[in-house]
Amino acid sequence: MPGLPTVDAPCSLCGAAESEGVWSTLDRAFAVPGRYTVARCRRCGFLYQRPRVRDENLADCYPDHYPRHQEPSPRIPFKGSPARVRAVRWALASALGYDSFRDRRVGLLTRLRAALMRRRLRWECPPWTGEGRYLDVGCGSGGSLGAAKALGWQVAGIEVDAAAAEKSRRFTSEIHAGDILTARFAAGAFDVVSAFHVLEHVPDPVAVVRRMLDWLAPGGIAIIEVPNAGGLGAWLFGRAWSGLELPRHLSHFTPESLSRAVEQAGGRVLWCWHQAKPRYYLWSLGFWLRDRDGGAWPGPPSGGPSTAR
Ligand SMILES: [Zn+2]
Repeated sequence: MPGLPTVDAPCSLCGAAESEGVWSTLDRAFAVPGRYTVARCRRCGFLYQRPRVRDENLADCYPDHYPRHQEPSPRIPFKGSPARVRAVRWALASALGYDSFRDRRVGLLTRLRAALMRRRLRWECPPWTGEGRYLDVGCGSGGSLGAAKALGWQVAGIEVDAAAAEKSRRFTSEIHAGDILTARFAAGAFDVVSAFHVLEHVPDPVAVVRRMLDWLAPGGIAIIEVPNAGGLGAWLFGRAWSGLELPRHLSHFTPESLSRAVEQAGGRVLWCWHQAKPRYYLWSLGFWLRDRDGGAWPGPPSGGPSTAR
């Protein structure tokens, strides 16, 4: 079957036209027709889909049942046993400034448990600035908006998929259904702007980060989460790495190239954290075993591991 129409675009970080093919795969998750390739920029090392699916065909990469577009419930941190919820409340209050969640009497075990949760919560829950405004870019059906709202934020979202945008309206009427770059939120209007697994899907990631930073009030923070192409999974599994997600992922960031994108957009990286879930390795292993039946071990990307942190 022929693939989606593509365009031979140069590196979106440095503009160089010279690149070399690194990995080539079919769509393993949703069977979009075609075979797609990740290239490495010969000048700056950035990994990107080349040729890439044309802008007007990007929507064809996403089936109606794409998980992000129909998350059933928000990722609220207050889930689980009463003991866990007590620990979450304590961690939010003691480490992130959510004083309204502070309970008077908390035992040593709860405090210990809270200490173990801090890093994860710090990622999912922005520090409390008091009645702050929160914008989630690429909000899908609103999973992160629901969580931020439960924490007390005034929330707004941007989502290009019309059906998903409609679902996200259960949390706020402030939803822009359309392209990120056409959203008309006022400059400086938000204290936090997040983009969870969005940047790797857009044709011009630097332009998107620039808009995100525009929307931030002075002292605001942006939170960006992407798969780590410089991590162990990509190094071990190569073209079988589950984070490749071709043809939906147009860019494949390492901590180094993501920092470069943020700096080119005028921002500064405050901290960077890598976490891999066991299921990602299991998916990759499954793809690798399937490939092994029909082809040779692809090998790790040359130079890839040097950018891992
Ligand atoms: Zn480049």
